[in-house]
Amino acid sequence: MNGLIGKIQRYSTKDGPGIRTTVFMVGCNLRCKWCANPELLKADQVMYHKEKCHRCGSCLAYEGIQWDTTGVKINRSQCIKIKELEEICPFEAYENVGKWMDSDELVQILLKDKEYYSQSNGGVTFSGGEALLQADFVYECTKKLHKYGIHVTLDTACALPYHPVLDEVDLILLDIKAYDALLHKKCTGIKNDQILENAKKIRKPVIVRMVLVPEFNDELEDIKKRIDFASTIHCIQIDFLKYHILGVSKYEQLGLSYECSLKELDETILQSAIKYAEEKHIEYTIGG
Ligand code: SF4
Repeated sequence: MNGLIGKIQRYSTKDGPGIRTTVFMVGCNLRCKWCANPELLKADQVMYHKEKCHRCGSCLAYEGIQWDTTGVKINRSQCIKIKELEEICPFEAYENVGKWMDSDELVQILLKDKEYYSQSNGGVTFSGGEALLQADFVYECTKKLHKYGIHVTLDTACALPYHPVLDEVDLILLDIKAYDALLHKKCTGIKNDQILENAKKIRKPVIVRMVLVPEFNDELEDIKKRIDFASTIHCIQIDFLKYHILGVSKYEQLGLSYECSLKELDETILQSAIKYAEEKHIEYTIGG
């Protein structure tokens, strides 16, 4: 079976325990305003890396491309052959995101760091985008990795029908963006009923991840409800993730506009959330 892979990141220490390889899958059914990986939202996206452009002019023969002061300007609605530009540009300024890969090919790549995984109690993490959109592929890869004794983590928002892969992986990083359904819709484009129902069914250990974003989901009342909910499921830890804007430049590279806040999180909100988690006797980390 084939899967559409956006990126494979080796030696990751932020996507589960130990040293891991993280597989970023292409495609997502949410549209979080603060998404740090917009290149993974859907298939067939093309990034333009202005800093690599040498202004050689090779791509100007294509409709929709014209000079601008520092490189080229792309009119994406006119440039219907934009996917050809990766081959045309001699300086790799264009990048077609995503590569189809067979599960055996991917597993062979992931096995390269098997020693690091075993020495650090690490493993492999499937992330995205939304890895559950390619659940059958992740399930097949997970079963193959388990034959080699490799720990597998799934990072998901779980806003899809319950899939057996949720019972096969060893750990689930569950992203809960908001507890209130309307707030969740404002943040992501969809309500969260299915997410909460799925979360109640999961029997594997869960780490609940909460990215706290100014002006979107940083109201203490809703954060407390998320913590309350976490205490009712198989949650072993909450990761509070501070919002960052490291992904903003990618929006320009994709010809998209960034609609989220550029403010930093108010530290007092984070401290109040931590205090509440401590009162509930829930383990937590702070990252982001
Ligand atoms: S082909 Fe590449 S380097 Fe040449 S002008 Fe176009 S983007 Fe720039």
